Amino acid sequence: MSNSNQYPKLLEPLDLGYTKLRSRTIMGSMHTGLEEDSEGLGKMAEFFAARAKGGVGLLVTGGFSPSARGGLGPHSSTMISSEDAERHKIVTQRVHEEGGLIALQLLNAGRQSYSEDLIAPSAIKSPIYPFTPHPLSAEEVEEEIESFVNAAVLAKSAGYDGVEVMGSEGYLINQFLSERSNQRDDKWGGSYENRMRFPVEIVSRMRERVGEEFIIVYRLSLIDLVPGGSTWDEVVTLAKAIEAAGATIMNSGIGWHEARIPTIATMVPRAAFTHIAAAIRKEISIPVCASNRINTPEVAEQVLADGEADLVSMARPMLADPEFVNKARNGQRANINVCIGCNQACLDHTFSGKRASCLVNPQACHETELLYTPTAQPKKVAVVGAGPGGLAYARVAAKRGHNVTLFDANTKIGGQFNIAKQIPGKEEFQETINYFQAEFEKYGVDLRLGETVDAAVLIEGGYDQVILATGIVPRKLELEGADHSKVLNYLDVIRDKKPVGKRVAIIGAGGIGFDVAELLSHGKINTALDKMAFFKEWGIDATLNSRSGIEGVKESFEPSSREITLLQRKTTKVGAGLGKTTGWTHRATLINKGVTMLNGVSYQKIDDAGLHITVGDEPRLLEVDNVIICAGQESLKALQAPLEKANIQVSLIGGADLAVELDAKRAIDQGSRLAAEL
Ligand code: FAD
Ligand code: NAP
Ligand code: SF4
Repeated sequence: MSNSNQYPKLLEPLDLGYTKLRSRTIMGSMHTGLEEDSEGLGKMAEFFAARAKGGVGLLVTGGFSPSARGGLGPHSSTMISSEDAERHKIVTQRVHEEGGLIALQLLNAGRQSYSEDLIAPSAIKSPIYPFTPHPLSAEEVEEEIESFVNAAVLAKSAGYDGVEVMGSEGYLINQFLSERSNQRDDKWGGSYENRMRFPVEIVSRMRERVGEEFIIVYRLSLIDLVPGGSTWDEVVTLAKAIEAAGATIMNSGIGWHEARIPTIATMVPRAAFTHIAAAIRKEISIPVCASNRINTPEVAEQVLADGEADLVSMARPMLADPEFVNKARNGQRANINVCIGCNQACLDHTFSGKRASCLVNPQACHETELLYTPTAQPKKVAVVGAGPGGLAYARVAAKRGHNVTLFDANTKIGGQFNIAKQIPGKEEFQETINYFQAEFEKYGVDLRLGETVDAAVLIEGGYDQVILATGIVPRKLELEGADHSKVLNYLDVIRDKKPVGKRVAIIGAGGIGFDVAELLSHGKINTALDKMAFFKEWGIDATLNSRSGIEGVKESFEPSSREITLLQRKTTKVGAGLGKTTGWTHRATLINKGVTMLNGVSYQKIDDAGLHITVGDEPRLLEVDNVIICAGQESLKALQAPLEKANIQVSLIGGADLAVELDAKRAIDQGSRLAAEL
């Protein structure tokens, strides 16, 4: 069924005269790790080809440095020679075969680099990177400009349809623009006119060299979110100059990497920053692209229908589902695998030096390795447990043509995602549940809900294969008073809504301990759903009057109405094990709400007086109304032994297999890979 008129703006082509974008979508740049693959760019070619096939208007690659000293790290990928350009031909060729357009992102990291040989306008270290940069001489500034121009010419020779000049997120261009990082007194520093000369020269010289029929996207930092960033007047002045210099499309960047404000995590409301794209759109006449936390076709359509932008950039949503655009076009919205903004397999991987993927789609960036090929010999399979692991297994097995029956004791699918989605800021998890539900209808999975399965049912069912995805049970504590009436576990609190008093101690500061603290400290307004409340909380000026969007605006977190202490035995920083790119946001939120965090704790007992602990050698009593246990989990695999005894072929996945360090990323990955091999 064609349903393209549901998203008329999103699916409208953008005619640039010499070429046409098939839809108003840009797949935003993401560094995936495929750029540096030792076997060449074949994997990257298939990664982009899948998204081109899926209907994206314009793909943008991860950042390639135009200069030997501009990489994100010592071995970063470059576009500096004809050999580099030659290597890229496989990428542009595959994208064009699928009818897509692709731009190469040119990124000079400047001081935001892990390389010791790094450069910047001035010798000022970034607060979050280890090395002090070499300040460029005037001659070297010229060389860096020429390197951008040269890289664009090389990109064109490699078959790219355009380039994106990375002017945001605090990289070299941003560093020239801001007094925070540019304290030069030559023609590249001082007045704003001087500071913006660097990007304007890049774009105007580039346009001159590449000719008119080549896309130049400029990624403009709309709001820097760091002290000393640009004022709105400066952003507008730059946008106009970049337009005049010859850019084709103005893309948006939000915040420098060193900003202490979340800009893409799941706690950020959808489309939170699009009003700023709208404000710049009023000032210039080239197409403007909005970005950040636009993750569904209806959100994208709204942004475009409201006239906030001409295009929408979606990066992570295209990792989650390469066919996003075509599904929107073909009336298959429910089958879009929506990005939940978790960062767990994309940014967290990138910042740990691992290849990116996607929690909800393990095929992302593994297009040539993880294949779901149709089976020639369909098997009868029972999957017990409809949590993320069981859902992923059932979907892939059914998609490949196997006959799948999926059991769950619960009356709805989702497993622990039904609990996770109740945490403020994790509402997106419902999207994943909805997606699997739609996929099961499509592929014909036999769903048996509300059935607690025993071994007899599985033995009598005549299955060729049984998958145990039965998950976990919360760990009980071996502690005096662990059965006291004031003791609850996280399921009592989140799932069963048992009453919780004003004074609370939480034992265990993993992801779930943090989530429980978030839930219990939350005020009346859910800031993940309310943009103005989110801005108020993090001290962002929605009126664009403050320099950098933050100066003179105070953070304003609603203090917790409960007195909460979050405890762990380890002596490491509380929250150190949370997600690499999101952990700090959770810590900052709780600290700002007045939650106390204690490490190096040993638990003594729980009684009417409260929780008795020692911290170091010091005994302490936490006088609390409730002690909430969030001390990890243990596998639930009681069905394994009787099934094996009956010679049934059994495999365990997710929490049933291993509870330690379990998360949905592992459960979905494991389920998908096992089903791919069935
Ligand atoms: P589960 O999700 O535990 O599902 C097991 C299913 O098996 C259940 O539905 C159960 O009813 C069913 N079952 C068990 N026995 C039987 C039986 N005999 N018959 C029928 N059905 C049975 N992970 C992340 O990656 N990121 C997060 O941000 C995140 N946040 C979380 C927040 C909270 C509050 C919680 C509780 C968890 C969170 N998790 C998160 C963890 C994630 O949800 C789990 O890792 C994941 O759900 C484990 O998947 P699973 O498939 O192993 O099993
Ligand atoms: P977890 O991350 O393993 O944390 C368990 C906590 O309990 C730790 O702080 C541990 O710290 C403590 N603990 C362990 N054994 C204990 C014992 N016997 N007595 C007292 N304390 C004990 O597990 P979780 O918080 O239950 O989370 C489960 C999984 O869900 C995690 O793997 C996590 O990745 C995932 N999850 C992820 C997110 C996310 O945002 N990415 C959010 C929620 C959940 P000490 O040993 O130092 O005391
Ligand atoms: Fe989105 Fe999470 Fe996938 Fe990253 S890992 S693309 S944030 S769903």
